[in-house]
Amino acid sequence: MSKIDKYLSDFDDYELAFFAKYKLDTYLKNSQEKIKKILFKRGLTEYRIEKLIEENPKSKLIDEKERCPRCYSDKIRRDKVKYTNESSGGSFGILIKAYNSNNEKVTYKNEVICNVCGFWLKDPNNEKPKMNITRLMSTFLTKIRGIK
Ligand SMILES: [Zn+2]
Repeated sequence: MSKIDKYLSDFDDYELAFFAKYKLDTYLKNSQEKIKKILFKRGLTEYRIEKLIEENPKSKLIDEKERCPRCYSDKIRRDKVKYTNESSGGSFGILIKAYNSNNEKVTYKNEVICNVCGFWLKDPNNEKPKMNITRLMSTFLTKIRGIK
């Protein structure tokens, strides 16, 4: 079983649908082919993917878990990152910077990203890749329709 097989075997159909819609395009061509085979095996056609996303029963769940606001999965990844985004903090940011350089203290913050759809819940350093959604969507639709 390849790494991606293993990773995706953990996802339910709804999570897989969100993954296909939002993350497939971020993988290299080779991996995309592997992922598409998995989608095919699990019967996730373009139509089914849209349906699953529409129906997502997790959106009605109320529990204590932290969930992704887009796909409602609780497969959330948390990384402690060195806080480097001081410039956007205004005068407070400058204060932190001055304090840090005087005391050699490093601030750590949580970077929180959804493992299923790639949604950034917390982005302390503004590292979220900026992308053109329209372009991305049209590339994706072209790909899954098999039009080159
Ligand atoms: Zn998500």
